[in-house]
Formats: sequence, structure tokens, C-alpha cells
Amino acid sequence: MEIHLLASGSSGNCALIRAGRGSDRTTLVLDCGIALRTARDLAAAAGAELGAVDGVLLSHHHADHCSKVVPIAARAGCPLWAHPAALETHPATSAGERRRRRIEHRPFRSGEWFEAGAIRCLPVRLAHDAVPTHGFVFEADGVRAGFFTDLGRTEEILPHLAAGLDLLVLEANHDPDLLAAGRYPPHLKRRVGGDRGHLSNDQAAAALAAAGARAPRRIALAHLSEHNNRPELALAAAAAGLRRGGAVGVEPAAAPRRGLLRLAAGDGAARPGARRRG
Ligand SMILES: [Zn+2]
Ligand SMILES: [Zn+2]
Repeated sequence: MEIHLLASGSSGNCALIRAGRGSDRTTLVLDCGIALRTARDLAAAAGAELGAVDGVLLSHHHADHCSKVVPIAARAGCPLWAHPAALETHPATSAGERRRRRIEHRPFRSGEWFEAGAIRCLPVRLAHDAVPTHGFVFEADGVRAGFFTDLGRTEEILPHLAAGLDLLVLEANHDPDLLAAGRYPPHLKRRVGGDRGHLSNDQAAAALAAAGARAPRRIALAHLSEHNNRPELALAAAAAGLRRGGAVGVEPAAAPRRGLLRLAAGDGAARPGARRRG
């Protein structure tokens, strides 16, 4: 299994999840809130054809995630997996729009596994102010991945980190000091920093520390704020969290706002000792 991040942050998100071999090969798009041409070019650079993907997944109804999921599913002629309540709020995913584009909606439920081709998917309900918002655990090729952005607190994801993930995409949205000193109005600072907003670097680091020595070997920090964060601050906080937890040899990467970041099991720093499966 590979995860390709194509875009990350409040100016638009898009990722590809790929797994399987031969006729079982599956490519899923998780969210798309960037221009279709950009998504197509970045997917091609990652070796995937956006017009031939096998499914589209939607995490929640904020425009930076949902605005282009229906056109992608329409063009690829593939199903759109989404929680029913995540589709009706935004005009880009409304019932009328889905009918017009002849989209097949496959509903999922929080906490219930479903299969999208070769990839098993578990929607994990997150605390975020688009209700409902889901992160995902993906299983394929003997690899388990977690994909968690747009959450204000970590309670919901800690059990999945504790159970062991090989790959992890984790939000590290803001540095609390930059947010406090920054130019956002007070209500927006409260929203971003609140329990239903976005994860700070420190919250992400604490979650990695809590995972202890079972921390994922490949980690991408994602949804970094353009105004309230810097990649080096997010990376330093995550590295400190991993050290506190006793994880050795793990080097997180920061997802660019636009551009490719690839996560795959077996990449990156070699793991000392026996490789965990689970
Ligand atoms: Zn977002
Ligand atoms: Zn959001």
C-alpha cells in the first residue's frame, strides 16, 4: 500500500491510496478540494490516472476536501464513498448535483469496515466542526495505515495508534504561539485551537509520544497552516514527541501545500529490531 499526498492544507486537500496487484490493483482518491487540472497533473506525476481511479472517499463537507469529489467520480465512472450526512450540506455534493453527474453514492457508517477493491477501509469519527468528519484506517497488502486530518482533539485516534499503524498521515495544523500572535480574529483563533478545530503541533506530538515504541515507521505531517505554522516547527515537535515515546529511527516528513509526498511501508529509516505486524 502506498499513500500519495497531492495537496494538503486549508487551500485544498487531495490524496491517493493505492494497493493490490494486477487485476486487483486499486486506486482510491481521498478528498479533493483543488483544481481538477492540478489534481490530474499531480496524480500523473505519482503514476496514477485520475480518470481511471476505482473510487473516491470523502472525509467531510468542508470545501477544501469536498469541492471536486463529484467531478472526479463522474469522470472516472467510479463510486463515491461518503457518510450520507456529509453530502447534503455543500452544494458541490448535493443530491441534485450527484444525480446530474450520475454518481453512485456508497454510504459508509462510522466504525464499520467496508471494502473498496483491494483496500479495507474503517471510517473513524473525528471531533471537527463539519459534522460528521471521518478519518480512516486502511488495510491492504499486509500494511495498515491511518489518515487523520481535521480534528481538534486526539482521543478518537489514540486507540488506532496504540494498536499499531505502519503508515500515518497526521494533522499538525498550527503552532500555538504563532496562532496566538497571528492575524486571525479572536473567534477564528478559538475555532482553530478548539476541540473541534485543528490539531496543534503539540497535540500531534503528544499523540505520537503516546504511541510509544509502536509509533508508525512512516509519518507525514499534514494540513499545516500557511499562516500559523512552519514545517520545521511541526517536524521538530513531532521528532520530540517520538523521542519522548521511545520510537527510534522515525523521521516524519511535512506534506507540501501542493506537490507530492509518498508514504509506503519499507521506505525511510530502517527499523531496528523485529518488524511488528498487526
Ligand atoms: Zn481541511
Ligand atoms: Zn475541515
